[in-house]
Amino acid sequence: MESENIRWFVFCGDSILLQRPAADGDPHRLPVSAEPPTEIKPWTKFQELPLGADGTPQRAYSINTPADAEGSFVGLRESYQRLSRADYLMAGKAYELLYWDKGTQYCGVCGAPMERATVISKRCTHCGKEVWPQVSPAVIVRIRRTDSEGREQILLVHARNFRRTEMYGLVAGFVETGETLEECVQREVMEETHLRIKNIRYFASQPWPYPCGIMIGFTADYAGGELKVQEEELSRAAWFSRDCLPAIPDKLSIARRLIDDWIDKAV
Ligand SMILES: [Zn+2]
Repeated sequence: MESENIRWFVFCGDSILLQRPAADGDPHRLPVSAEPPTEIKPWTKFQELPLGADGTPQRAYSINTPADAEGSFVGLRESYQRLSRADYLMAGKAYELLYWDKGTQYCGVCGAPMERATVISKRCTHCGKEVWPQVSPAVIVRIRRTDSEGREQILLVHARNFRRTEMYGLVAGFVETGETLEECVQREVMEETHLRIKNIRYFASQPWPYPCGIMIGFTADYAGGELKVQEEELSRAAWFSRDCLPAIPDKLSIARRLIDDWIDKAV
């Protein structure tokens, strides 16, 4: 039987192997071949992925050092700029599954080795405990107010963990056990800025595979309070109108979608 071509998602750390485009300006491609595109070890484990939109089987694995391969490794975040949206989303899923696999080699209850039960679940070989990939939900919120001159503004913050020092983004934080998403939005805003908000509305969500999150976006209106930043989390926060926005997150993020949506609503 002729062996079938497979689309490969090969990771080294948080970088993924991409092939150079055939022509300048074309999107980068993931390797497609019958055999893995790098040298593999006897212990290399393959993670099955859903079929691609074109019906091609897809598979992922990790290597420890960037091996000789045609193409180059680029950061998963950066791959957003180079891959089609479908390939970028699948790369995120692949990364999350490999991360999950690595962290669940042994049972958290009895310590025995885990074995695959299905493509996305494992079972303990001793006590039978089952595990699935965990997703960590986080909320992010765009807060709007009208200033004393009747201009609309949104609250932007600089979190200490932002990679770009000049950039401002939106208040965000992880959901805690036992709280609703709306309660989480209110709590994060109160903790980080001391502000009260109202009219909390769902906007959209986005898988955030860094390493295993989902960002759930909301909009809200300012309801009261003096802006006072929580120093451990934020270094600055301020209200901005559309005509004087600072540097904002790049197109990859739902933060940018929330901000762009507000910019587009200008009358
Ligand atoms: Zn066990």
